[in-house]
Amino acid sequence: MLSANLVALCYLGASVLLILALKGLSSPESARRGNLYGVAGMALAVVVTLQLEVVQNYVWIAVAMAVGGLIGGVAARKVPMTHMPQTVAFMHSLVGLAAVLIAVSAFYNPIAYGIADASGGLRLASRIELFLGTFIGAITFTASLIAFGKLQGLLSGRPLVFTGQHWLNLALGLVMIGSGVVFCITQGWVPFLLMLAIALVLGVLLIVPIGGADMPVIVSMLNSYSGWAAAGIGFTLGNNMLIIAGALVGSSGAILSYIMCRAMNRSLLNVLLGGFGGETAAAGGPVRTDRPVKAGSAEDAAFLLKNARRVIIVPGYGLAVARAQHALKELVDRLVGLGVDVKFAIHPVAGRMPGHMNVLLAEADVPYDIVHEMDEINAEFADTDVAVVIGANDVTNPAARNDPSSPIYGMPVLDVAKAQHIIFIKRSLSPGYAGLDNELFYMDKTMMLFDDAKKACEAILQSLD
Ligand code: NDP
Repeated sequence: MLSANLVALCYLGASVLLILALKGLSSPESARRGNLYGVAGMALAVVVTLQLEVVQNYVWIAVAMAVGGLIGGVAARKVPMTHMPQTVAFMHSLVGLAAVLIAVSAFYNPIAYGIADASGGLRLASRIELFLGTFIGAITFTASLIAFGKLQGLLSGRPLVFTGQHWLNLALGLVMIGSGVVFCITQGWVPFLLMLAIALVLGVLLIVPIGGADMPVIVSMLNSYSGWAAAGIGFTLGNNMLIIAGALVGSSGAILSYIMCRAMNRSLLNVLLGGFGGETAAAGGPVRTDRPVKAGSAEDAAFLLKNARRVIIVPGYGLAVARAQHALKELVDRLVGLGVDVKFAIHPVAGRMPGHMNVLLAEADVPYDIVHEMDEINAEFADTDVAVVIGANDVTNPAARNDPSSPIYGMPVLDVAKAQHIIFIKRSLSPGYAGLDNELFYMDKTMMLFDDAKKACEAILQSLD
């Protein structure tokens, strides 16, 4: 068994590795290395924890690790990239559930957890930790399950709003905190269970009014909540490693949420409080399909592209659904071979989760130096011959700039409208995630290529030969 000092040193090493992992994950070039740091840090933390004196029953731990590892391994291979947000949301729910179960078990057995006072009751500090860990864990648990249901299409993605909703949430929040305070003073099981039950209900109520365009922020916010729930468990178990790892997840999730909010023009406070302002997002008016558009063929697109000097490609969710990244890479290689300057423009919320497009393009070996974030490339659309929008919609919608009545008004978008020509590759005039029509479809300089993204890329490539 390692001495306490050595354990602390190993935990410090593991924490440094986890910080390096976060640093690595901040850019596609270093993401693989970042992942390896994360795996190494977590492996070190688990091995060191397993040899601690408090760990006594290795059989159950081995069974749990084998079952969890198997499910995780199969899920990692089977779950398509487009289903990653709901998978992540589901995993967050498990962290929340773990926090609740540990808190309940510690509440009923404080001596086994080493958090009992001289009389066998709970120490005051532990009561406060249990209070925080339980309600954050419970909210994370049910909120993540609802987010999973919405993203998986099991529940409607539309916001569920009713009169007095926010007052109800506020009242429940106050009763929950009040019960927690009573629990901290009396150690009674009634206020503890009342606090737990209200937190479970609040998790549901906070997510149901959120829909459409606010969903990415919720996924990253739940990431943050799950980190704080894990830190809460760390306090209950007296494990510094868990406190540090939880705090890292909690704070990085909160920072990501803030960045996402800025990218979608949403207020973090509103999202945190549950759907203030979310009522309008994703409400989307009816989409008119009777307006004339200019439709073209793969040959027409190939003609435009091979005669262009500069081309900017805007990938979106449809690219991911069609798994078109490899076909697109071949098309890009061909165009570059023909002397065309091709770049990619990535909107921070393109796709269905942060970084979605970067991961897909990296998977197809698209060189990082031609992939640009929105702020870097937006000014270049004005000097671009053809903008090719592939399976993207909301992230190009000019209504976000021009139409104060639009639910996405104020959200920064890619300046596709400024290019000389626009090619839109999608299957129909259907709207995107936010449920909104897109004026770009009807512009004179726009050519709609109605096809599946992968088939369209292959057909254009063929027409270039
Ligand atoms: P959108 O959802 O706006 O549009 C995607 C388009 O892809 C649709 O209009 C659809 O049109 C088309 N499409 C679907 N399948 C195919 C296919 N097989 N081939 C070709 N086209 C296809 O996507 P964007 O990426 O532009 O915008 C992302 C949206 O998702 C934003 O509203 C964002 O807020 C939201 N969101 C983002 C998250 C994130 O973290 N990035 C998380 C959750 C939501 P058609 O049916 O006509 O083919």
